[in-house]
Amino acid sequence: MAEPAVSVRKPYRLVSRDFHPDNSVVRVGNTVFGSNRVVVMAGPCAVESRDQVMSAGECMARIGVPILRGGAYKPRTSPYSFQGLGVEGLKMLAEARQRFGVHIVTEAVDHDSLEQVAQWADMVQIGARNMQNFELLKAVGQVGKPVLLKRGFAATIDEWLMAAEYVAAHGNPNIILCERGIRTYETKTRNTLDISAVPVVKQLSHLPVVVDPSHAAGQWQWVAPLARAAVAAGADGLIIEAHPNPAEALSDGPQSLTWTHLEDLMRDLGRISRAIGRDL
Ligand code: PEP
Ligand code: MN
Repeated sequence: MAEPAVSVRKPYRLVSRDFHPDNSVVRVGNTVFGSNRVVVMAGPCAVESRDQVMSAGECMARIGVPILRGGAYKPRTSPYSFQGLGVEGLKMLAEARQRFGVHIVTEAVDHDSLEQVAQWADMVQIGARNMQNFELLKAVGQVGKPVLLKRGFAATIDEWLMAAEYVAAHGNPNIILCERGIRTYETKTRNTLDISAVPVVKQLSHLPVVVDPSHAAGQWQWVAPLARAAVAAGADGLIIEAHPNPAEALSDGPQSLTWTHLEDLMRDLGRISRAIGRDL
């Protein structure tokens, strides 16, 4: 049988470094990902109350975290867990942006929430559980906001890059990839942080790559070491869960840092960034 005339084409092209050798920069307001600066995003897993979000906004502005995270729509494993405040939560995040000058990243879980998130937030998060929700990825391609695309916890790097390709192919080139841990045989940690994904994806793709050490670790004590490793490995940023009172958190309390822990971590990350010739 004759050999095919052309080799099988790469399943992703727009996000591949083969066709775009230079790093892409993605702007979220006046914050730039993919430059020399390591960008930290932090905040609670879920938006729980106005007081909580204002406390978070005030902390982020004070310690130099430019982007506040907080889920208004929560994809919870159990249907009985707190599901989020929805649009009311988005309005609280927007108020924090107004008061403290931070930008907002928050998750969309379906088409309806995507419409709301695109209206109120500065960046749309697509969570691990939706990484291969192809209809949602197509819709995200059509919103005019940057997207934080988390890696599915059972997704290979190629599957993750193909998910990014969906978003790019449908019109949105402003994609930031987020490694957040994958499921392995290890059960001591919530997930296993695939730190090798950082250099591998940065070689395969021109897109910025950030790391979520919180969902990888599952325990707050392990978040700082993983965050430091991510910056040392060349991540363009981090997304970290922090809460004014982790013991009372309605979701992901065990992995949430306090404001004090986050402030200490920022100091360490500044030192590591400078040591590798980057800024924080
Ligand atoms: C989150 O960021 O709170 C979250 C649900 O993350 P993931 O989709 O990575 O589990
Ligand atoms: Mn969480």
